[in-house]
Amino acid sequence: MNSFLKQQSELKSQILQGRYMTYPKIEHLLSDFNSKYVGASAKGLPIHTLTLGTGPVKVLMWSQMHGNESTSTKGIMDVMYYLKSNLTLLEPFTIKLIPMLNPDGAAAYTRVNANAVDLNRDAQRQSQPETLALFEVYDAFQPDFCFNLHDQRTIFGVNDNPCVLSYLSPAADSGNSITKAREQAMGIIGYINEQLQEQLPNQVGRYDDTYNPNCVGDCFQAKGTTTILFECGQSGQDYGRIVTRKWFGFSVLAALNCIANNVFNPKAYDSIPKVEKSYVDVLIHHVPIHESQISLAVQYEEKLNSGKITFEPTLHSKGELSQLNAHKTIDLKKHNPNDFATLEDAAIKKIFKMLDLTRYSH
Ligand SMILES: [Zn+2]
Repeated sequence: MNSFLKQQSELKSQILQGRYMTYPKIEHLLSDFNSKYVGASAKGLPIHTLTLGTGPVKVLMWSQMHGNESTSTKGIMDVMYYLKSNLTLLEPFTIKLIPMLNPDGAAAYTRVNANAVDLNRDAQRQSQPETLALFEVYDAFQPDFCFNLHDQRTIFGVNDNPCVLSYLSPAADSGNSITKAREQAMGIIGYINEQLQEQLPNQVGRYDDTYNPNCVGDCFQAKGTTTILFECGQSGQDYGRIVTRKWFGFSVLAALNCIANNVFNPKAYDSIPKVEKSYVDVLIHHVPIHESQISLAVQYEEKLNSGKITFEPTLHSKGELSQLNAHKTIDLKKHNPNDFATLEDAAIKKIFKMLDLTRYSH
């Protein structure tokens, strides 16, 4: 895992950069692996699997089932190239990856597919071609482990720290029973967390485990396949999620290491703090209004503008906001109060502009 940290920046997959990750960008990498066409999206874009290794333990992974969640696609391609050049690590495994399950959503930079369906709520109905492709691969491959790879929004924190990565061992029934599969997933996450704590102290979280059979992870866990949800998160000004990508790849390798060496640690799972919706992107303090001062909380809206992603500031809330954490804090004490005479919408936009809050990611 540590050699991955050294080699990661040299891997061929590093040509994948930016938040806007579409099918044409990954297409030319597919032939570096044993790739197979497994279906088409609603708009006819191809969906592929990449297979690596011939070992007895079968791991199925899929990324970008939510089209605007691309960090794990870049990160998992780092892992694939790394494993390809470190074959001893690969020996126990046959890995099958769907690098982009929702290529239409990726092109449109939306969570949903082209029919406006959230593929991660379609496990029971299986109404979409992308869902059918995933289930066909699952049924034919019969994996021992499933890794469901995502990005989470910037709003999540753990104990007043930004949540860089979070995980879930999804429930397998409405009673939240600890089934064998679920316990094993908890054991992997417990192990991952131990490895990450040295690197990202108090920045790893655990997702809510309310059972939802429409979610693919819950569905596979209910079928008895050990399934883990991985979520890449936000920290500081890393809106390209370059740092998160590295630790995400590290954590996938930690999961494989846990499986290969049978070092599951389910007891450590419950000690991982639950993620909280406790963060905004920017907090602006001491904004003068009517001879007093308040705080503004800003949340970015991600927009696709001519092939690149813009993070546009929007007002989240205003007032006394000491309960909120932010990835960036600005104090207006240093600015001329006459510039911020009123809190009309136009004035707020002016503040955002003056403070140059808009961010870009290619
Ligand atoms: Zn997602």
